[in-house]
Amino acid sequence: MHVVIIGNGVAAINTARAVLNHQPTADVTVFSEEPYLYYPRPKLWDFLPGKLSLDDLYFYPASWYEEHGIDVHLGQKVTAIDPAGRSVTLSNGQAVRYDRLLLANGGFPFVPPIENAGNAGVFTLRNIADALAIRAYAEQAQSALVIGGGLLGLESARGLRDLGLAVTVIEIAPWLLPKQLDQAGANVLTRTFESMGIRTITEAICQEIDGEDRATGVFLKDKQRISGELILISAGIRCDTALAVNAGLQVNRGVVVNEHMQTSAPDIYAAGDVCEFHGRCYGIIPAAIEQARVAGANLGGQTDVRYAGTIPSNTLKVAGIDLTSVGVINPPDESYQEFRASDPAQGRYKKLVVKDNKLVGAILLGFPKEMPRIASLIRQETPLEVPVEELLHIN
Ligand SMILES: Cc1cc2nc3c(=O)[nH]c(=O)nc-3n(C[C@H](O)[C@H](O)[C@H](O)COP(=O)(O)OP(=O)(O)OC[C@H]3O[C@@H](n4cnc5c(N)ncnc54)[C@H](O)[C@@H]3O)c2cc1C
Repeated sequence: MHVVIIGNGVAAINTARAVLNHQPTADVTVFSEEPYLYYPRPKLWDFLPGKLSLDDLYFYPASWYEEHGIDVHLGQKVTAIDPAGRSVTLSNGQAVRYDRLLLANGGFPFVPPIENAGNAGVFTLRNIADALAIRAYAEQAQSALVIGGGLLGLESARGLRDLGLAVTVIEIAPWLLPKQLDQAGANVLTRTFESMGIRTITEAICQEIDGEDRATGVFLKDKQRISGELILISAGIRCDTALAVNAGLQVNRGVVVNEHMQTSAPDIYAAGDVCEFHGRCYGIIPAAIEQARVAGANLGGQTDVRYAGTIPSNTLKVAGIDLTSVGVINPPDESYQEFRASDPAQGRYKKLVVKDNKLVGAILLGFPKEMPRIASLIRQETPLEVPVEELLHIN
């Protein structure tokens, strides 16, 4: 059986491994548009300021693919899929036949409708090429603006700060990390960021990039102008669905998959940022890994392995800050109970969300050692055996 995989990210690599575990005789071919070996994208934040070299980024040596029987083609983009003929076309015009295909071609950064967003000095960060371009531009800049105060925006802000730039983060929501934090937690985090020399502006909508050819700042919707020579837009990601749309697969926000990670074409599977499961596009590594295990098992013939969704869990890795949020953190209605404790002087904040005496969500800022226990209680989905106050306690 010949399995062709489009992409060489975390979903692709984990699927390839799972296929070969289940069916060691399978032929697995990986096509990667990027000319690099597999690297985890979170490492880009240390690569950006030059703390890691290119070689440090790679998860496996070049020999790993061969040792595992994976035929990898770097710098080779798939330009079209023919589901009826079971083949893909490559950027060099060659057609390659498959028995089963996996779409693991990920996502791309969303750029909101900001005027002049195509000007020199305006960037997004998704891959090694982006990081190299940002680093080179930063050499002739003193200041940077990060548009978007989500996880990726804040981690990028730290990377730019490490490059010696004066950094301002501009967030549209009333507080930083609106998907991971509530307002009280965000206040604690903001103070920590300011102590690192990173300024934050919230409830601000970026409307236009200022500057003739090169960016010199942005205009907000309220006409306020904020200066900054390097502008990094970090406003979310979108599933890269173009290949699937052109192949006639069912696509919503992402490529729609069932619990076997199978798309609307029976021989084509999808995993990672490209796909949508039960209306949800996760855009995080834990989901990509779980989906890859399921896709790999099914591609390898183990059709009783099913995906049931992933409990979102996010960790902010900015130096000195340990922030993890899991599950429901901003409850939708009053059937949930919220418990909070904080120690702002120490940059610590804890919130637990309980429903029907079960722990369903948590925010832990400054409690790295407690997260495994809390996360496992959330995943167990069983009634709490200890009082919430015990879990909420701050030493
Ligand atoms: C800077 C950064 C930091 C992040 N940090 C975290 C984190 O800390 N925690 C977390 O959970 N998530 C994080 N994420 C998100 C996480 O990296 C993604 O969820 C994950 O990479 C998705 O994996 P994937 O394999 O689906 O897609 P990708 O990693 O995007 O890989 C897809 C690959 O497919 C290739 N490709 C695309 N089209 C084609 C084509 N037509 N032909 C051939 N190849 C193609 C792309 O070039 C790319 O290499 C981060 C993302 C970024 C950008």
